[in-house]
Amino acid sequence: MLKLDGLSVSFGTKRAVRDLSLEIAEGELVCLLGPSGCGKTTTLRAIAGLERPAAGRVGIAGRVLSVAARVVPPPERGIGFLFQDVALFPHLTVAQNIAYGMCRRQRATDTGRVEALLDRVRMRHLADSYPHMLSGGEQQRAALVRALAPRPRVVLLDEPFSSLDAALRAGLREETVRILKDAGVTVLMVTHDPEEALVSADRIVLMRDGEMVQTGTPDELYAAPVDAFTAAFFGAVNRVPGTVAGAEIRTRLGALANPGFGDGEPVEVLIRPDGLRLAPGGGRASAELHVCSVHFAGASSVVRLSERHGDPGHDHFHARLPGLVRHRAGETVRIAIDPGQSFVFSEPRSRSAR
Ligand code: ATP
Repeated sequence: MLKLDGLSVSFGTKRAVRDLSLEIAEGELVCLLGPSGCGKTTTLRAIAGLERPAAGRVGIAGRVLSVAARVVPPPERGIGFLFQDVALFPHLTVAQNIAYGMCRRQRATDTGRVEALLDRVRMRHLADSYPHMLSGGEQQRAALVRALAPRPRVVLLDEPFSSLDAALRAGLREETVRILKDAGVTVLMVTHDPEEALVSADRIVLMRDGEMVQTGTPDELYAAPVDAFTAAFFGAVNRVPGTVAGAEIRTRLGALANPGFGDGEPVEVLIRPDGLRLAPGGGRASAELHVCSVHFAGASSVVRLSERHGDPGHDHFHARLPGLVRHRAGETVRIAIDPGQSFVFSEPRSRSAR
């Protein structure tokens, strides 16, 4: 449904998007994820027809809409938009805002569309209200159904929930995904929030410095990151150098099976906090650490550990354990590494894991 073919976008000498190729199937919800400034919004704007590519092309449903020489204007693309700042027209009611994007012919033939959309977001009673009379969440829902009103084939969302507080955000995100899925539209959503991408997306495209780093399902990116950047993007990780010794990778925190590195190759091991197990008995692959502090955080507790007791200059490691834990600062514990939550990468330059 949506195809980017070697898309590059430049601002003067700055290459904001470099050689990005991506295909999104009909009805698929893809999240474009990455740190600030990596080119997410620029990619979306190029798809919308608001930026001209320096190279490559943008196509929707087999039709080429953007190449360097020719850009089909945004209103002729069959795309719906929902951007960070909602931008409902203040002088139009909710119903008028929703009807605004529909052409005259659609308004005449697609009768009941506005009411049906209002029903879908449980806002029929607010049809005659003006935007300033709505809460932030209601404004966002009105903007969403306004984007869907002309029955677009593709919807682009740019950080649509970032202006909402945390409590509202999760509920609205879930509702938005459900509405988009029910509508069967193809969706590309920009976010810098890994959790938002993990819970919302069929597929994630992770970007860095204008380039795609990895694409895959949320569990593929989380469980099989291609490099240290990807592994660390989904949450803080413990990092330790490793030594390749035959079938094992040895680290200060214990040993892991060698996934295929050659003896003597410099490697780095990344372990998620959930992958450090505090094991009283220990085992062959375990290390002894000191508990520096324990922080209870509701569903889990974070235990801060160090190799030497009371040495503030020394490396610290973090283990996340479910619920309340019985460990206390000052204790010595044995730890074990969960191989499913650990990743080995070449050090220092290679980006690939094995
Ligand atoms: P954020 O998450 O902070 O919104 P982003 O990943 O969406 O970031 P973009 O807005 O696409 O990043 O910007 C990519 C790069 O292009 C940045 O370095 C930015 O400064 C630059 N850039 C974006 N728009 C322009 C512009 N109109 N003129 C010059 N440089 C720009």
